[in-house]
Amino acid sequence: MSDCLFCRIVNGEIPTKKVHEDERYLAFEDIHPQAPVHVLIVPKEHIASVAEVVEEQAELLGGLITIAARIARDKKLDSGYRLVFNCQKDAGQEVFHIHLHLLGGRKFTWPPG
Ligand code: 5GP
Ligand code: ZN
Repeated sequence: MSDCLFCRIVNGEIPTKKVHEDERYLAFEDIHPQAPVHVLIVPKEHIASVAEVVEEQAELLGGLITIAARIARDKKLDSGYRLVFNCQKDAGQEVFHIHLHLLGGRKFTWPPG
């Protein structure tokens, strides 16, 4: 989608610091990091939100978690990290191209804000 920020990042129209790329996924550093490690993992295919996900996309979405876990291992986040999907406006979703946040390098509180 030409008016989607993360599609434009996937297409290389907007530069980012890439952490991982393959045929189906891109992972890149968040522009406003909320932790020493803050990586966004996206499918290259445009899906707006977790709220739109259908059964056929389960394998594609599972890949986001697998890549996040691999990046966490590479970055030696052995004492823990947090994975977050913000879904729709009450959860603070600002970019409507599905993305998994990988946050690490500090302690996190629960419940989240
Ligand atoms: P959301 O609030 O939708 O879950 O997360 C969107 C994330 O995208 C935010 O953490 C925000 O900092 C990040 N972001 C917004 N615009 C850009 C950008 O142009 N480049 C990168 N790398 N991250 C962005
Ligand atoms: Zn998109």
